[in-house]
Amino acid sequence: VELPIHDAVLARAAEFGGAPALIDGTDGTTLTYEQVDRFHRRVAAALAEAGVRKGDVLALHSPNTIAFPTAFYAATRAGASVTTVHPLATAEEFGKQLGDCAARWIVTVSPLLETARRAAELAGGIEEIFVCDSAPGHRSLIDMLASTAPEPVVGIDPAEDVAALPYSSGTTGVPKGVMLTHRQIATNLAQLQPLITAGPGDRVLAVLPFFHIYGLTALMNAPLRQGATVVVLPRFDLETFLAAVQNHRITGLYVAPPIVLALAKHPLVDRYDLSSLKYVVSAAAPLDASLAAACSRRLGLPPVGQAYGMTELSPGTHVVPLDAMSDAPPGTVGKLIAGTEMRIVSLDDPGKDLGPGESGEILIRGPQIMKGYLGRPDATAAMIDGGGTSRSSEAESGGGWLHTGDVGHVDDEGWLFVVDRVKELIKYKGFQVAPAELEALLLTHPGIADAAVIGVYDENGNEVPHAHVVRQPSAPELSAGEVMVYVAERVAPYKRIRHVTFIDGVPRAASGKILRRELRAAHEEPS
Ligand code: ATP
Ligand code: MG
Repeated sequence: VELPIHDAVLARAAEFGGAPALIDGTDGTTLTYEQVDRFHRRVAAALAEAGVRKGDVLALHSPNTIAFPTAFYAATRAGASVTTVHPLATAEEFGKQLGDCAARWIVTVSPLLETARRAAELAGGIEEIFVCDSAPGHRSLIDMLASTAPEPVVGIDPAEDVAALPYSSGTTGVPKGVMLTHRQIATNLAQLQPLITAGPGDRVLAVLPFFHIYGLTALMNAPLRQGATVVVLPRFDLETFLAAVQNHRITGLYVAPPIVLALAKHPLVDRYDLSSLKYVVSAAAPLDASLAAACSRRLGLPPVGQAYGMTELSPGTHVVPLDAMSDAPPGTVGKLIAGTEMRIVSLDDPGKDLGPGESGEILIRGPQIMKGYLGRPDATAAMIDGGGTSRSSEAESGGGWLHTGDVGHVDDEGWLFVVDRVKELIKYKGFQVAPAELEALLLTHPGIADAAVIGVYDENGNEVPHAHVVRQPSAPELSAGEVMVYVAERVAPYKRIRHVTFIDGVPRAASGKILRRELRAAHEEPS
C-alpha cells in the first residue's frame, strides 16, 4: 500500500500486457495495458519537462475518454495533485475551482477549450493549458507520447502527498476540495478490491463520470488494477448505454439510482440483449429495495448490490460483496469493509451509541479518511473529531471519527441501511420523515416516472412533505389528489404528502443525487 497511486494501480500492467485496458464505447478505439503504462510514463516525462513539479495542482477537465486515465496517472507520476473538473462546469464554476485550489496547469479536450481558457483567465495563475486531443497553440498529450525527456524522479510520500483533489458533489452546500493522499486512495482500493473483484475478461462500462470519486474508483482505478476492460462512454444516454452493454458484452455495471430506475422502468430496455451482465452495483444516493428488485427481476440478475461512501472517505466504507449479493437483505448498502470502524450515534444525543435497529448518524474511522478539506480547517474540524491532523494520536485519545451527516442503522448481522441525510430529514411535529422513503414509494406508482420530495413549511409553521412528480408519458392525467391519496394509503399520517408539483425532470448532480436545493429555489422565485 506504500506505493503512489499510479504504481498501485498499474503494478500488474506488464503482466496484463496486450489485454484491452480501455475501449472507446463510441468508436471502438482500444488501449492495451502495455500502452496505458507506457503512455502515462511518456506524458509524465513531458509534463515534467513542461514544468509540472511536485505539489502543483493540475486540473483535469474532460468527459470520460480512454485518455483520461493516462492523463491522470501521468500527472500524479509527475508529482502533481489532480483536481478533477465537471466537464459541463461553466467558466465561472471552473474558474472558482481553479482559484480555490490554486491550480497551475489544466488538461482539457478541444471541445471544452474555450471554457478552460475563460476559467484560466478568471482564476489567474495558470501556467499552461494542455489538450488530450489536439488544438492549435496548445501542447497535446498525443504529441507528448513521442517525448524523449527522461522519466521524472519525484520523491512522493504516499502518506502525506495529495494525489487527488476531487470536489464533493455540492449537494448540501458549496463543493469542497477534498485532499486525498496516495496512501488513502491506495488503501481504500486494497480494502474494496477483494469484495468487488473484476479481473481479466470482465468488462465494466464507464458511464458514470471519472471526475467524481465513485467513477474514479469503481470504473477506473479498481478495474485497471485488476486487469479488467473498461468500456468508456462520454455521457449517459439510455439508448447508447444499452447498446454499449449489448455490443461490448458488458459483465458488470456500476451505476447510480437514476440508471437503476431506467433499467427497472424504461420501455427501451426490453429491446436490447443484456444477457452478458453478471451484476449491477448502485451507489452515491439512496436506492429503494423494491426498485432494486424490479431492476434485477427484469434483467434476470442477482439483486442489485449497493455500496456506500463519500468523497471524504476515498470513497468507500461499505459494500455488498459480489458473492453475497443473493443473500444480503434487501435495501442494505453493505457491510463494513476491513480495517474500518463505524459507530451509529443518537441524533438528539450525539454522545450516545445506538444498537442494531436504531437509526442515528453514521460515524466512521479508518485509514481512508481524507487528509482534510483544502483551505477549510474549520469545515475539516466540524467533520472529523480532532480536526483531521495526526490521526494515529487522535485514535488513541478516542478521536478521529468522521461525521458522515448520513442517518442509518445496522441489523443484527451488521448490514448497514442508509435512511437519508441528516440535513434532508423533514421534521414534522417531532417526527422525522425521510424524503428518500417517500420518493421510493412514489416510484412504485405506475403513473410516476420520477419523483423528489422536499420539506416546506405550511401556514401553521409545520415542515411538511412536498412532492415533485414527473408523470409517465402513459399517465398524462395523473392528478395531485391521486398522488396524495396513493401515499396516504400506505404511510403513517405524519408522513403524508401535503403538496404536489408536476415537473418535467428531477434536477440531479452528475453522481445521480437529487439537487433538492434547486427545487427549493424554484419555490422561492416569485412566479
Ligand atoms: P456535498 O458534501 O458537497 O454536499 P455530497 O455529499 O453529495 O456533496 P459526495 O461525496 O459525492 O458529495 O456524496 C456522498 C454522499 O452520498 C453520502 O454522504 C451519502 O449521503 C450519499 N450516498 C452515497 N452512497 C449512498 C448509498 N448507497 N445510499 C444512500 N446514500 C448514499
Ligand atoms: Mg457530503
